[in-house]
Amino acid sequence: MQYTSTRDKSIRVTASQAIAQGISTEGGLFVPCEIPQFSLDKINSMVSMSYIERAKTVLREYLTDFTDEELDYCVSGAYAKGKFSSEKIAPTVNIDGNKNILELWHGPTCAFKDMALQLLPYLMTVSAKKTADGKTIVILVATSGDTGKAALEGFKDVDNTKILVFYPVDGVSPMQKLQMTTQEGGNVAVCAINGNFDDAQSAVKSIFTNDEIKAQLADKNMMFSSANSINWGRLVPQIVYYFSAYCDLLEQGRIALGDEMNVVVPTGNFGNILAAYYAKRMGLPIKYLVCASNSNNVLTDFLHTGKYDKNRKFYTTSSPSMDILISSNLERLLYHLSGDNDKLVSDLMAQLSAKGEYQISSELKNAISEIFDAGFASENEVFDTIKYHFDKYNYLCDTHTAVAVCVYDAFVKSGKSDLPCVIDSTASPYKFSASVLDAVTNGKAEGADEFDMVTKLNELTGAPIPAPLASLKDKKVRFTDVCNKEDMSQMVFKLLDL
Ligand SMILES: *Cc1c(COP(=O)(O)O)cnc(C)c1O
Repeated sequence: MQYTSTRDKSIRVTASQAIAQGISTEGGLFVPCEIPQFSLDKINSMVSMSYIERAKTVLREYLTDFTDEELDYCVSGAYAKGKFSSEKIAPTVNIDGNKNILELWHGPTCAFKDMALQLLPYLMTVSAKKTADGKTIVILVATSGDTGKAALEGFKDVDNTKILVFYPVDGVSPMQKLQMTTQEGGNVAVCAINGNFDDAQSAVKSIFTNDEIKAQLADKNMMFSSANSINWGRLVPQIVYYFSAYCDLLEQGRIALGDEMNVVVPTGNFGNILAAYYAKRMGLPIKYLVCASNSNNVLTDFLHTGKYDKNRKFYTTSSPSMDILISSNLERLLYHLSGDNDKLVSDLMAQLSAKGEYQISSELKNAISEIFDAGFASENEVFDTIKYHFDKYNYLCDTHTAVAVCVYDAFVKSGKSDLPCVIDSTASPYKFSASVLDAVTNGKAEGADEFDMVTKLNELTGAPIPAPLASLKDKKVRFTDVCNKEDMSQMVFKLLDL
């Protein structure tokens, strides 16, 4: 299996080169040249497998330059006993009729990013051994809250790696902030920036592709890579859980082999939903992919009209991990659906960076509409959804999940399709205790600090508090730096002692 770039399809790299490098030199994203196909028989054979075996079955087709031993080492290490609080790793929970919740937050940092970021460091170190001849890999991360912590936890004290994380100073929840600023490990650093996630992500991308900085790094035998979902190694582990969820629905007798399901994904950078798109292209029976946004509904508008326009008001919402106006992974979808048109993709991305907008042809728009549906949830709808589902089903979901559940309800109401559905649940409700508590109490909760609110939420709902969040209370804050976005490259030099 070879990979190419969305902006220059003459490029050919192996999986390990794509993972070690993170992003293509001209700024494009790596995509597989062809998409492996799974027959229904093959899918059926995965039903009796553990999550680890299911993961190896999917990943083997994409990481063709990994040996079976290497793949086993990576996958078994990432999802080893004790790392996830659910034995199923990603359990599928039915709450009512066709409404199934895929819980992706049982990992060490309580958000779905662990599904990929527990595995990525293994993939990265194996890839680096094959391709980067002993260089230290510097992972540069822009985070809207959850990626940062999950990447820090995945890469902490991993040999021959360093990790630097930038987060928007006012754009993450108190729990997310505490998770990052108390991070342990000898190879980690964390810095807040005055700006939002898009500012952080754009600055990180330009540092990555800055030749001068790259040369300075090379002098010190270091190279950059990325743990954001622009890295193929972040995306590919996410394909697995769509197969796994389908197998779970088969196992639970909710569908028969070959039946179609819908998937609803609370979306920010378009990584998670793109993984579902790859699963569909591989032969997993998925009818519609429903893209759920919060008030930052740039994707809803794009999927409805074919015009991407990030020139709009930016909202800081109760689902901060989706407060994004530039969804990087859309680039990969445009590449695939335009018939691998790298020229078109380069052109659209140039327009996006110059003017903040682009318009696709009606042909391309129609190709997208055949597969994707989209909707968004306002802040009030998010709160109502949390309360309703807790009162009615005793199911407590976080704010991001609630966005998806709300959009799902509207999607079914629209009459478009009422197939069995998998709704991604992307974070533990305890990561966003203030908002969730606010929702279930109708705004009547008074909590002094974050941990009081966690306790209150637990008393009120009985939902278990994840151990990694409970233990934060006694951890020491290690990182307090704040910088302006213009000074991020300076900060990189400082943190790396260059
Ligand atoms: C990152 C994140 C999302 C958005 O996922 P994308 O892959 O960026 O679309 C949604 N919910 C939570 C809790 C997240 O951490």
